Order: sequence, then structure tokens, then C-alpha cells
Amino acid sequence: MSLMTPGVKGVHATRAAHGVWGVILGLAIAGTPSIVTAQQTSVVYISNVRIFDGRSAQLSGPKNVLVRGNKIERISAEPLPTDRRADTVLIDGGGRTLMPGLIDNHWHTLLVRPTPDTLLTDDIGYINLQAGAEATDTLMRGFTTVRDLGGPSFGLKRAIDDGTVAGPRIYPSGAVITVTSGHGDFRQFYELPRRMGDPSSRGEQLGAAMIADTPDEVRVRAREQLMQGASQIKLTAGGGVASPNSPIDVSTFTEPELRAAVEAAENWGTYVAAHAYTPVSIQRSIAAGVKCIEHGHLMDEATAKLMAEKRIWLSTQPFPPGMADAFPPGSVQRAKFEEVLTGMDAMYRLAKKYSLKTAFGTDIIFSHALAQRQGALLASLTRWYTPAEALAMATSVNAQLLTLSGKRNPYPGKLGVVEEGALADLLLVDGDPIANIQLVSDPAKNFVVIMKDGKIYKNSLSK
Ligand SMILES: [Zn+2]
Repeated sequence: MSLMTPGVKGVHATRAAHGVWGVILGLAIAGTPSIVTAQQTSVVYISNVRIFDGRSAQLSGPKNVLVRGNKIERISAEPLPTDRRADTVLIDGGGRTLMPGLIDNHWHTLLVRPTPDTLLTDDIGYINLQAGAEATDTLMRGFTTVRDLGGPSFGLKRAIDDGTVAGPRIYPSGAVITVTSGHGDFRQFYELPRRMGDPSSRGEQLGAAMIADTPDEVRVRAREQLMQGASQIKLTAGGGVASPNSPIDVSTFTEPELRAAVEAAENWGTYVAAHAYTPVSIQRSIAAGVKCIEHGHLMDEATAKLMAEKRIWLSTQPFPPGMADAFPPGSVQRAKFEEVLTGMDAMYRLAKKYSLKTAFGTDIIFSHALAQRQGALLASLTRWYTPAEALAMATSVNAQLLTLSGKRNPYPGKLGVVEEGALADLLLVDGDPIANIQLVSDPAKNFVVIMKDGKIYKNSLSK
């Protein structure tokens, strides 16, 4: 039985053609075309697989898995009866590994492909179409869910959810909330001073970053994101790498300002994730009620202890040294990135020592090339964790963090695990990723089936 729609066949044909023309013409292909479509099915029966369930250190014995609608209905060592309807799909797993779709808990769906200049000056329609294509690529890398930590992603999320474009589930934050000069304030000096009643800055018009300098302003901006469907609020409690006028050591919001965002989020049953590298910015965020720290690379032992005591999430990223190349040599951004990198090893060691609840993300922005390495960054966690621990982090552990959104969770149901009743976000891997985690670095070759919400987006086993 053919498992591909014409659209899916089309993508392979087009990719092949691109490859040929890319070679012949010496072209750099900016991205793959976003014409992947889901196959309409109601029942999918996947036989003879060994399962990484998202938690265990070992694969299961041979199993058969029945997916009905968007959920995993049955898992059994025995063959399962399947109603053979016209749209029933049978997949012979051939002893391969079935695992949960991957989750990137620090992603920026709108910011991966544009340069900062494109973002600040180009047409938003173009930026959205680029983001749609990137979302398809993200799904084809096996990432079936992303938590978007800043950027105008509401439209893209809607287009993915209604089937207009293939992409991952998105947990959107909407605009990052920051302070004047904070991380995310990309204004030029000629735009200062800001006066009440001035037109908002480009970043604010796009819904990428909102500037707020009092608790009242923070409340307004937080509530605006919640109104648009934010599943959590993201704010920047300290300096950041990519922003021009935001030194890493700086603490930005005051505690009352941070608390205003926390109250607004909690009134909506959700939480605040705070961008913070330094002990001061992390500790102030925790004092204000923040539940999740983004990055944390420069934390010290006292801060790690505090995070453990208060059960605060550390949502951090194994930044690759090559990420420095995203910033020009000699630039202030490059120097800041290198400073952050010096803390990374100690941070992961502290996270392990104090058993911090630690989530995986990549935070790739402004680099389509680096986005190709999303899976390789996951594999790089084996510097500190076993392959099984790294894979669990990107599946069941990340899914646990997503549940902090409470009733603002846009996708109620169990993610990040392969078990009966869970949402059917599944990867069929050609090999054993616990024995060889590098398999996740080459998803085009090794992920032979990609399913999200019970729908098949890739099946290279079908003829
Ligand atoms: Zn980020």
C-alpha cells in the first residue's frame, strides 16, 4: 500500500531536482520547499518495533502499536486485530526503533531563517513564509513539538494546526517582554528618547519584543500575549548575547516588574519563563515567582541549590562553539557568546549534582545552517548525560515542562512518551538511538517514518 500522498512524493522529487540543479549551477539552496502534506488516515498499525518509550534506559522487546485517530490506542507483544478500512495504513517496522517525536523547548519559529537585518527591515509576509518553510524542515528533522520563546508565532501556529502548512506543535510565548536596553530591544540610538504616544518600534509592531519599564506596562504586555494565545510568558531578566546594547552581567527588570508578569501569567493559570544567565538575575526571577529559567549558563553553586530547593526548571542549551560564527569577529555579541560558553560545562555539572529539572532546547536564531544541526545538538548532550538520559530529556522530560502551561496548554494530552493513550507523535528510527545517538543527527536518512498527531508526514518505507 502506498503511504504517500502525491504531495509527499512531490517533495522527494523536488528535493532531488534541487540537489541536481544545486550541483550543476553551484547554487546554495536556501531551504527545502514546504510542500510536505499529511497522509489522511484513521488507523495506523505499526508492527515489529522495539520501543524507546521516552523514559527507559533500554528498548522494549518486539511490540506492535495501534494508532487510532491522534492517539496511541494499544501496544502489545501479540499481534493486534486491525479493522482493514480503505484508509488503514500498515507499517512493517522490521525490528526498527519506535520513539516519541522530539521536543525543542527553546526555539524561535520566526527567527531561525532571517538575519537581524531582514527581521528589522523586511516585509513580514516574507518572514512568515520563510518561517513556514522552516517549520516544515523542523518537523522533518523529527521535532514534532517546539516551545517558542519569543517571536510573532501565533499566525504560524494557527496555519500549522489547521493544516495549511506542515510543522511542529508550537507552544507560543508571543513577544518577549523586555526593558529599555534589555535583551530584545533592537532599537537604534536615533529612536531614542522614547516619548509616551510615540509610534511603537519595529520589534513591537511585529510582536517580536515589547519594551516595558514599569509593573503596569509589564502587566499590559503580558496580558496582550495571553489574549493572543500565549501558552507561557517569556521575559528577559538579564542581558543577552544577540542584542546590541544589553551586556550579559546586567539585571534588567526589578522584582516588582517581574512579579507583575508572574501575577498576570498565574491569573491565566500559566507561568513565566525568564531569560537569565547570571546568579543575580536567576535569583531575582525566582524571588518573583518565575517557574522556569532559560539558559542559566553562568549560574553558581548557591543558585543551583536554590533552584533545587524551589523545584525551578532549568531550560538550557548545549551551545556549540561554532555558534560564535553567527556573530562577526570582534563584535560585542561574539565576546558575549564566548563569555556564556565559559560557564556551560560548570552549569551542566551543577544541574546534575543538584538533580535540577533540566530541559533541552537549542535556541538557534538567525542561522538556517545551524538549524540543520538541531538533532546533532541533542546528541552533543552525551558530553554530560547518557544517550538514554539525553533522549529522555528531549521527550518525556521536556513534555513535563510543557504541562506547566495548565489550561493554556494548546495540545492537551500526553506528549513525549510512547504509551497507550498518549498523543501519536512518533518517529521510526532505522537503528537503535540508545546504542548510537548519532542517528538523530541525520534525520533525513535515519527517521524513516515521522508521525505527528496520528498523521504521517514521512514514510520512506513505502514503495
Ligand atoms: Zn532564545
